[in-house]
Amino acid sequence: MLIIFFLFGLIIGSFLNVVVYRIRTAETIMGRSHCRQCKKTIRWYDNIPVLSFVLLKFKCRDCGEKISWQYPLVELLTGVVFALLANQYFILENPVTWLITGVMIALASALLVIFIYDILYMEIPNLVLWPAIILALIFNLYLDFGQIFSTVWERMSVSGVMASGGAFLFFFSLSYFSKEKWMGMGDAYLVILLGLILGWPKILLGLFLAFAIGAIYGIILIGMKKKDMKSQLPFAPFLIVGTFFALFYYAPIVGWYLGLF
Ligand SMILES: [Zn+2]
Repeated sequence: MLIIFFLFGLIIGSFLNVVVYRIRTAETIMGRSHCRQCKKTIRWYDNIPVLSFVLLKFKCRDCGEKISWQYPLVELLTGVVFALLANQYFILENPVTWLITGVMIALASALLVIFIYDILYMEIPNLVLWPAIILALIFNLYLDFGQIFSTVWERMSVSGVMASGGAFLFFFSLSYFSKEKWMGMGDAYLVILLGLILGWPKILLGLFLAFAIGAIYGIILIGMKKKDMKSQLPFAPFLIVGTFFALFYYAPIVGWYLGLF
């Protein structure tokens, strides 16, 4: 079953690459893909996720222009994320889990687009962020509808709003008081979405991991003399990686951490 979600992820990943590019150039999402260099339409058999890049040796068949590693990497990453989501939420015999998995796939796709977009253009696309926030809000209300929780805090709508409100205030302050030097305002809006997806207290782990991974990455770059202390790094990719880890591995990570004492 997971392999089906992985393959589905490869195909959607290939689509997400196109979405990123077309949001930037304000083209429509529809229509066949074409080479950015020679503008020739890509043949269907050259458009198979991952496989085509290897067979074409990362070059356009028509003009020989190099195709970026971004494409197969995003496809693989999307495949892995979809398989992990299915592993966590999907039960074949239970129709409700189909819906839950579907919404989580849509939200994860939005996160992946924001992830690539911020790396490429140092900007968070509002066109993707705000619809995803609305979807996450509706989804949280749906999850609570008809379910009985022992306390109000376990309700996803309460826990999600708490998580995103707290995270937003924290990032908004960082951005506001540093005049966007430490943190961009876009990141403050992004954590609203991450809070709604993770809820409380998982958001704390997501943010902690984002800062930890970001710091390690920054130290490596400075060590390799690729950046100095003043260089700007896009932070959304770290926030999104942290969110995926908190979503999939919250229990093992917290368990491991508590086991240290
Ligand atoms: Zn070409």
